Amino acid sequence: MQSLAELALKMHESVDLTDEREVKKFIGFTQVGENLIGVRRRATRLMEEDALEIGPGGIVTPRRDPFGLYIIYGGTPHHTCNLFGYWHINDVDEVYITVGGKNPDDEATRLILMRYPKSGERDMFAWYCRECVALLHCFVHETGSLGFETFWKAESEAVRIFNSDATLRRCKNCGAEHPLGYRFMANKNSVEEEAARRIW
Ligand SMILES: [Zn+2]
Repeated sequence: MQSLAELALKMHESVDLTDEREVKKFIGFTQVGENLIGVRRRATRLMEEDALEIGPGGIVTPRRDPFGLYIIYGGTPHHTCNLFGYWHINDVDEVYITVGGKNPDDEATRLILMRYPKSGERDMFAWYCRECVALLHCFVHETGSLGFETFWKAESEAVRIFNSDATLRRCKNCGAEHPLGYRFMANKNSVEEEAARRIW
């Protein structure tokens, strides 16, 4: 297992973040040694308060410096607004390193680093009521034993199931209706699913 410092050095050697073609390779997640690396880019103003978590206090924007190092610990439901339309629960810790631009409209860059999942470690795609935080639906994927290359297909299937059944989207606790889920990659979504990206 590499230390984070070793990994950061390796990133520096293996990814030229000033080269758009290089960065494009990391739009999803790419395996680098024992780790997975993703690169996200969007306007600085969109990255300031975009990452939500669910904890004992309900849905929160964690208190942190929006730019810098941040860890989402394994098992914590997290959602990035307008980027992916579900709550992701990863058995593996995720490290976010975000570097903002000078102005709100300048592009910010976020590196997402995590260890490659081991057998038995899962990814979950979940939806919680936006009013009362009751769990509406959770799709569990055995990423560790099946390999990370199956992740995006599982994401797609989870979203398809949630969107195909209106009873899953209606909260049994308070009756609130949840917007459609949507996939990270825009070209995999229907027009209605892409419209949901603008909502949450
Ligand atoms: Zn509810």
